Amino acid sequence: VKQEAGWNFDNSYAGLSALFYSKMGPNPVSEPELVILNEKLAVSMGLNPDALRGQDEIDVFAGNRVPEGAEPLAQAYAGHQFGHFTMLGDGRALLLGEQMTPGGERLDVQLKGSGRTPYSRRGDGRAALGPMLREYIISEAMHALGIPTTRSLAVVTTGEPVYRETVLQGAVLTRIAASHLRVGTFQYAAGAGSAEELRELADYALRRHYGEPPEPEENRYVFLLREVLKRQASLIAQWQLVGFIHGVMNTDNMAISGETIDYGPCAFMDTYDPATVFSSIDTNGRYAYRNQPYIGVWNLARLAESLLPLLHDDEEQAVKVAEDVLSEFNEHFQRNYLSGMRAKLGLFGEEEDDDALIQELLKLMEEHRADYTNTFRALTLGKPEATALHGIAAFGDWQAMWQARLGRQQETEEASRELMRRSNPAVIPRNHRVEEALEAAAERSDYAVMEKLLRALANPYAYSPDQEEYAELPASCNSPYQTFCGT
Ligand code: AMP
Ligand code: MG
Ligand code: MG
Repeated sequence: VKQEAGWNFDNSYAGLSALFYSKMGPNPVSEPELVILNEKLAVSMGLNPDALRGQDEIDVFAGNRVPEGAEPLAQAYAGHQFGHFTMLGDGRALLLGEQMTPGGERLDVQLKGSGRTPYSRRGDGRAALGPMLREYIISEAMHALGIPTTRSLAVVTTGEPVYRETVLQGAVLTRIAASHLRVGTFQYAAGAGSAEELRELADYALRRHYGEPPEPEENRYVFLLREVLKRQASLIAQWQLVGFIHGVMNTDNMAISGETIDYGPCAFMDTYDPATVFSSIDTNGRYAYRNQPYIGVWNLARLAESLLPLLHDDEEQAVKVAEDVLSEFNEHFQRNYLSGMRAKLGLFGEEEDDDALIQELLKLMEEHRADYTNTFRALTLGKPEATALHGIAAFGDWQAMWQARLGRQQETEEASRELMRRSNPAVIPRNHRVEEALEAAAERSDYAVMEKLLRALANPYAYSPDQEEYAELPASCNSPYQTFCGT
């Protein structure tokens, strides 16, 4: 008996002006095979995992069949890539539509790697298996860490080769997102659309993500800008707290919803070094770990510029309003970052010297090339002797200051330890373990390594014995880890 998959599409984005997309069906592939399915996510979306494993739904994930109710389209957008403005758009992706979930959510269902579109420029519109699995692993790890992110529902192989530096297996990822509205969507509307179309997009973003300002007299587009800014300040603070480096924070890769989007050359930092860059093409370190908050506000300034005509009738006033809002970023970011760092150290309440305490630990970690995650993990486990800082006099002094600070709070030691456990992951997707899983999958069709890794990453705060192996550091090697985009 054939089961219903549970698709329940609405297509609100397809109802916007034609400027914002090109309607088109997906490009079929020869021999789709399902290699991974996110059953939990499927269930939460009102989908039936058993049906999703059937051929009809594998054909949906591959772009061989459009499910009932979906109105597929490629989205138009622009963006600053490494500081240079370009017209872009979905060059290798299609939005199928929005799944209306039993919980009342509206979630974009997007195929990534689905073939050429009018926005493909010179690209082939396709994706290779390794990078799609990489996005699956890291996005699901981010979700489990509690960090807003797009999700991964499924990966299928296409049975067709893609040609990069070598010949690779083609694959399509089904990506789920609160929406795919980007800062670059607004740049596109401001550059290529009319005043009405820009307003139409802003109204749509408000409806979809933010509602109306609580003070009805406030300009609703100023409210939109401020809300996006607050979510990005919070998001980037969370990246910093777990040592996540996005790697390609172009304005087209910054979501209006506040979710982490576009897992290309991203990676987690092992050794604490604020200058860390993994992406092979980021030769100037524009998107280095320590630059992420600055790039965040730079990107938001591009959003503000795009929104200017809506912020005030008078252009000078509009610029002033935009600058006022942008100036709030730092405070939001710092507040989020500091409270997150306090939690990582088990600190309740606030003391003036907390920031200095945090900075001193980071300075020691940098000086002595300590592993970022494992330093906090060891402190959480009450085993400072397990850190790379053990035996260093300045670390002894730091511990004394930390213990004194802990001693001045009312909360019990147990409550402190509990807070640390909730705030310091025991396991992150370390680059060498991700690579190992991808190699097994893409080169030997062995998915067991990846599934085991995914299980450990699904509960990063569990501190369970089976996670210990994932806390182990890579065997030291001479060449630093590098990531690559556009594959
Ligand atoms: P990204 O670097 O992933 O943010 O992508 C930047 C732009 O390049 C987007 O417009 C993508 O759709 C497009 N793009 C990336 N890879 C391909 C490809 N293989 N074929 C066509 N377009 C692509
Ligand atoms: Mg992108
Ligand atoms: Mg990408």
